[in-house]
Amino acid sequence: MEKWPIGVFAGVDAGLGVKLEVARELGIRTVQLHAPRRESRTPQRAKDFLTKLDELGIRITVVFGGFEGESYADIPAVIETVGLVPPATRAARTREMKEIADFARLLGVDAVGLHLGFVPHDAGDSMYGDIIAVTRELCDHCEKLDQNVHLETGQEPADLLLKFIGDVDCDNLFVNFDPANMILYGCGEPIAALKKVGKYVRSVHCKDARWAKNPGKEWGAETPLGEGDVGMENFLRALAEIGYFGPLTIEREIPQEPKRQKAEIGRGMKLLHELKARMG
Ligand code: MG
Repeated sequence: MEKWPIGVFAGVDAGLGVKLEVARELGIRTVQLHAPRRESRTPQRAKDFLTKLDELGIRITVVFGGFEGESYADIPAVIETVGLVPPATRAARTREMKEIADFARLLGVDAVGLHLGFVPHDAGDSMYGDIIAVTRELCDHCEKLDQNVHLETGQEPADLLLKFIGDVDCDNLFVNFDPANMILYGCGEPIAALKKVGKYVRSVHCKDARWAKNPGKEWGAETPLGEGDVGMENFLRALAEIGYFGPLTIEREIPQEPKRQKAEIGRGMKLLHELKARMG
């Protein structure tokens, strides 16, 4: 396989990710896919979708789950609403995440990803054990589908993520490393974090961000690739160091401005091509 193929986060429903046609226009051949809404997750739709992907020459590497009611407005909103952590929606969302994995299987995709939510930073917290259990339940379901589960990074520091993965203790649990999230959530310097969790990294987001004045208390600011504090060259060097040469999936979530989104992704691709060329 090509070293570091450039990819993009794509979607089929309105709202998230670029349209597949846009990915094609940009010359992108590998995407991560935001899971389509429930009504689109049927065997027939999967079949139609595969035909379309074939026509476009695009391959899906990871299907990402997301849930109604999630808000990324600020850090407290994320704690309250995101992923499998909030107790009120946990059972329903776990069921839905399994359905998303089933749909990904129909698409022939062997990895699903998600923001698990804010895992309690104190392992003594009674919720910690509950989150371990629900993650194991999801991993077991995916194991039967011959799939891996990729946890999106950012909401916990690298050491906590390592401890959590060790405590879940499932062979198919890995990491989707998003360097910008480490900055946005104030969870640690991304390059150092990447090296720590390196052996678990099976997919990445190429996203950039600037640190907040008070990291961890307020949001940092997401920026176009190369304009933030990640340092994309160092990011790629660290990826080479940990032995990751899979897709570089650009994530730029400004779907309300599709023109700007496409232009910025185009510039991000150019930057990644230049860095790849320079690094041989
Ligand atoms: Mg991400």
